[in-house]
Amino acid sequence: MTAEPAAEAAFEPALDPALAAAIDRLAAAPALLVALDFDGTLAPEVDDPQAARALPEAHAALLALHALPATTVALVSGRSLESLAAVGEMPAKVPLVGSHGLEVRLGDGEVLPAATPQDRERVRLLRLRLEPLVDAVPGAWMEQKPAGFAVHTRIVEDAAAAASLIEAVRAEAAAQDAGLTVRDGKNVVEFAARDATKGDGLRVLRERLGQPAVLFAGDDVTDEDGLQALVDGDLGIKVGPAGTVAPHRVADPRAMARVLERLLDARRENPPTTR
Ligand SMILES: [Mg+2]
Repeated sequence: MTAEPAAEAAFEPALDPALAAAIDRLAAAPALLVALDFDGTLAPEVDDPQAARALPEAHAALLALHALPATTVALVSGRSLESLAAVGEMPAKVPLVGSHGLEVRLGDGEVLPAATPQDRERVRLLRLRLEPLVDAVPGAWMEQKPAGFAVHTRIVEDAAAAASLIEAVRAEAAAQDAGLTVRDGKNVVEFAARDATKGDGLRVLRERLGQPAVLFAGDDVTDEDGLQALVDGDLGIKVGPAGTVAPHRVADPRAMARVLERLLDARRENPPTTR
């Protein structure tokens, strides 16, 4: 299906009435947190992660919401804080949750530590133990993460050496510290002393902001943790076709931008009474 942008816009379906009603209810909340996933929710997916940007209409609606009283806008992403700050292009006072809830930068600039001193010591000890194994395999390298590190083997030419390195570091890690979170990826294994989800990130923001009503929307599996952290009076929206616990769904970032525009209009029309 191809269409000129103008024609496409003309045929854009109206918001689902149940969702529209839920947006209008949320807009009347005395305090509101608009916390959103970035990639695939505000920004269409692109090949180069650094090139991702929120749709202009979504970005404009977020800036306008941010300027309203008793209204906080936040981004909640799997990206590192640094990466999220770069692509998000939000004012400094907008809280950011990175690394799936592990890294939190609050609106006043305070950055909550992703790891305790004990966490860091566990990670340091494990890293010391694994380093000789990794150094012995040409092309293998370690990447520091907020509460752990990853061992990468993507550019190891000897596939058998790469496989046995992964096996060896997993065994060493298990022998030293069985309580670590271990995550396998393609040509990478990640060890972390602390695990977090987008739900944890949302709970931190909600607490710091004095229990506002929350809009959370996301497109990916990890967003389900955020959706599950919602309570009565909040609004959860799934973006795209994947399975979800969210009571509402929109098709894509363009439809999500229309949700934000409606929320903005409704909150402007009927501003919250400050308590
Ligand atoms: Mg996403």
